[in-house]
Amino acid sequence: MAVYNPKSLKAEEFINDGEILETLRYADAHKDDTELIDRIIEKAKLRKGIDHREASVLLACEDEEKLKEIYALAEQIKKDFYGDRIVMFAPLYLSNYCVNGCVYCPYHAKNKHICRKKLTQDEVRDEVIALQDMGHKRLAIEAGEDPVHNPIEYILECIDTIYSIKHKNGAIRRVNVNIAATTVENYKKLHDAGIGTYILFQETYNKKSYEELHPTGPKHNYDYHTEAMDRAMEGGIDDVGLGVLFGLELYRYELAGILMHAEHLEAVHGVGPHTISVPRIKAADDIDPDTFDNGIDDETFCKIIAIIRIAVPYTGMIISTRESKSVREKALRLGISQISGGSKTSVGGYVEPEPEEENSAQFDVSDQRTLDEVVCWLMELGYIPSFCTACYREGRTGDRFMALCKSGQIQNCCHPNALMTLEEYLVDYAGPKTRAIGEKVIEKELLNIPKEKVRAIAAQHIDDIKNNNKRDFRF
Ligand code: SF4
Ligand code: SF4
Repeated sequence: MAVYNPKSLKAEEFINDGEILETLRYADAHKDDTELIDRIIEKAKLRKGIDHREASVLLACEDEEKLKEIYALAEQIKKDFYGDRIVMFAPLYLSNYCVNGCVYCPYHAKNKHICRKKLTQDEVRDEVIALQDMGHKRLAIEAGEDPVHNPIEYILECIDTIYSIKHKNGAIRRVNVNIAATTVENYKKLHDAGIGTYILFQETYNKKSYEELHPTGPKHNYDYHTEAMDRAMEGGIDDVGLGVLFGLELYRYELAGILMHAEHLEAVHGVGPHTISVPRIKAADDIDPDTFDNGIDDETFCKIIAIIRIAVPYTGMIISTRESKSVREKALRLGISQISGGSKTSVGGYVEPEPEEENSAQFDVSDQRTLDEVVCWLMELGYIPSFCTACYREGRTGDRFMALCKSGQIQNCCHPNALMTLEEYLVDYAGPKTRAIGEKVIEKELLNIPKEKVRAIAAQHIDDIKNNNKRDFRF
């Protein structure tokens, strides 16, 4: 039987089933142990995180008073590390050809009636122009696994195309990539193409369930999939993004698993995950979420987000338009630092909305608002929408990025960058209401840049964006 070892490179040792089951037993046994829960909360207050066992105890805890403390701490940590900034991004679906048999995804190979599409480079260009015209600067590209239709060369060509398009004042400045687990050699190629984060959802950390949920195709191989982030890092990619699809397995198992994965990356590579995503299973063509037994309600979902926030304070957290406006609002407070806006989850959906009969979407979007509506809504809630991509472009990835987080200089860096990129958005893309609110937000928030010199430079840059048509400033 495999023995738990976070430093091992073998999937079954660093995501160890025995350790997870023991963790869940431990959490059950201690869920009413207020002394232990207090100690864990005190440790979390040091803002250096808590481990998978400690987090699992908090997740099992049902004491209303303690839960209030946990939520308050998550909110505080969110504020301390991310201020009021929310980074914006959009997904771009390149191709929905896929050879895998994932039972929860409409792109699975046996779905013969879904409309299969793959963007040509001209179509990529059109999609990117549409995204730039909305105001996006940061994309996450998505493609099914299909060595014939979507080989790595196709993905690389698309990345090149995306970065090359400069339409009006627009530019995509960071391309994150969400494609199937691959070889070190291919990860090197993605690294050389200048990707931002490599994102790969584990879907579920439970090996037995994983194999049942992925009955056919290369993704069936749990070990190869689970060890992908190690290969990505070996290939030179510093920033990796984890995620599970909540609803497939017991959420308590998944929380322990994802935190063990984060601990493993830290133990082996000296840097934890750049982001964690928290998708929940949603309806889609030929997928009914009710057929999966492990769905979680909104309250549990928010509890998970709060606990991840305090367990890994330096890791960004992402929520997509799978979630409704009201759930997103709650989740933002508790820990989410990045959200998508104005998303289309079909191939080619930004240029032309799809007719019903041509559905190529991966999931139904709950939050259907435009990017401008989302930006405006965020500011009305007191947030600062940020289109910043500075770290990646300044080479602050991996441990250099973590060093920035730990240096306490975030407020002198992320904050002015958020304001400058928001000003670009307001000048180039915002509707009149959003612009009016945004200009006030910027004026007020400039005063919250601690260093006088940085404040003066940021004010000058903002003036140049507004009055001299200059763009792309960053700290
Ligand atoms: S989840 Fe990914 S790998 Fe699985 S069927 Fe969908 S696109 Fe293919
Ligand atoms: S400066 Fe870096 S960490 Fe801060 S918002 Fe920009 S990209 Fe993110």
